[in-house]
Amino acid sequence: MQEAGRWGFAVRWRARLPGGCEVCGTWTQAGLCGPCGTRFAPRVDRCRRCALPLPEGLQTCTECLQEPPAFERSLCVADYGFPWQRLIARFKYGRTPELAALLATALLAAAARDDAPPPEAFVALPLSPRRLAERGYDQAWELARALGREAGLPAHARVLERRFDAPAQARSSRAQRMRNLQGAFAVAAGERLRVEGRHLALVDDVMTTGASAREAARVLREAGAARVDLWIVARTPAPAAPAAPA
Ligand SMILES: [Zn+2]
Ligand SMILES: [Zn+2]
Repeated sequence: MQEAGRWGFAVRWRARLPGGCEVCGTWTQAGLCGPCGTRFAPRVDRCRRCALPLPEGLQTCTECLQEPPAFERSLCVADYGFPWQRLIARFKYGRTPELAALLATALLAAAARDDAPPPEAFVALPLSPRRLAERGYDQAWELARALGREAGLPAHARVLERRFDAPAQARSSRAQRMRNLQGAFAVAAGERLRVEGRHLALVDDVMTTGASAREAARVLREAGAARVDLWIVARTPAPAAPAAPA
């Protein structure tokens, strides 16, 4: 499966040893068979700022109109549901970082269909050192690195530092969540030149409330980034939906 990108590179579904499609088990060389790739990443009208599904014809959701996030655009593959939920869970907790290439390719295919200008580099939304120690690898960094490799763009591992995790936030208001996150991210010493004047894509696997992404993007803009976009594999459709595992 191959899609011509607008960006001067073709999005190639990485050839690997033939095996079952991750979703339906059909024999494929791409990890995800053609029909599953099309069926499970349908075109949906979304808020250009935060990727929330919107009725046809609308470009920005009410929340983003009232309080625009520091990121300019959000690109995603699909809503957080079957089969992405399962693939992301395996990617995150199943110690299968090799799924990063598949998820990155799906994200690049979605980006190549969009009219957003390409970023200059990818930056991961980092885990805290404590979470990283628990899990053993940082899924957002694995994804950012795979995106960089597939798109031929730099991916920066250490631009953003995460100082702490915010407490569980499912029931707090957005204002509370944002307060809890103040100071959670910082641009690392010595990394400012990779931020100043740059158009960066902040990468994460799932966006639920978007509070962390908002705060991280704010910190990047404050450090001089010309533009920050948000690239996520899956978007939790509505605030009422069950929260994604952090
Ligand atoms: Zn399939
Ligand atoms: Zn929005």
